[in-house]
Amino acid sequence: MSDGLPKPPPPPKFRTGFGYDVHPFAEGRKCILGGVEIPSPKGLLGHSDADVLLHALADALLGAAGLPDIGHFFPNTEERWRGVDSRVLLREVVARLAHRGLFVGNVDLVIVAERPKIAPHLAKIKENLSADLRLGSERIGLKATTNEKLGFVGREEGIAAMATVLIYEA
Ligand code: MG
Repeated sequence: MSDGLPKPPPPPKFRTGFGYDVHPFAEGRKCILGGVEIPSPKGLLGHSDADVLLHALADALLGAAGLPDIGHFFPNTEERWRGVDSRVLLREVVARLAHRGLFVGNVDLVIVAERPKIAPHLAKIKENLSADLRLGSERIGLKATTNEKLGFVGREEGIAAMATVLIYEA
């Protein structure tokens, strides 16, 4: 096909991805973020352990690789994923990318929660991320912020998380 435009050069070896996830609070559930159980009167509801941070991150990685989202690979209709530790899912995603010659360059993550207080747990979360992503902690950005009491997060109905990643072909 000739559209008169210059032929694009080969694409760069870098790819970016973005992920977003939300889980609602529920009584009688644990609040697990980045594989760390955070003390909280209410936990997060979901088919898995509802680790909203790791879900956003996994979706960003899959998106960067041009793959479908985690719901495609780990459907919430399948009994075997009930209550699953989301670190298992994240590691599976990292492995899928590695088998395609894709590796993680850096990630930057935001947790949006009014409560519980997450700051005291960031170091431990980062340790888990570093192990699961096979990535030095200096390549992991991790922040927690409130929603200034606005919207569903502000009303303490749930927690949201966002992730941006860079992966590279090797
Ligand atoms: Mg989720």
